[in-house]
Amino acid sequence: MSVVNNAAALDPVTPQLSGSDSPFASLRSVRTDARARLLAGYIRSAIAFLSGPDHDKLTACTAPRCVRYFVKVHGRQEFCQPSCGNRARAARFYHRQRADSGR
Ligand SMILES: [Zn+2]
Repeated sequence: MSVVNNAAALDPVTPQLSGSDSPFASLRSVRTDARARLLAGYIRSAIAFLSGPDHDKLTACTAPRCVRYFVKVHGRQEFCQPSCGNRARAARFYHRQRADSGR
């Protein structure tokens, strides 16, 4: 866990408020190294997600040969994308056909 926290600390940022008509927030960085800023930004996002309210919706895709994780939008969602669902249905059909034909 310290590796993650150290990566997040690569780019200490300060929240800034900009715009007068419709203010928006941005983060001011002190680093000029683009790779460090990018890595720290990814890690900050991961920390925010894993410590946020949606972390329990993170689910492994159950399709054959898929190694992705996704955030469940509804309770019965099993696959990360429609193509994984199609591949899983095709695999089930294939195995059913093989079982029915006795091979
Ligand atoms: Zn998948």
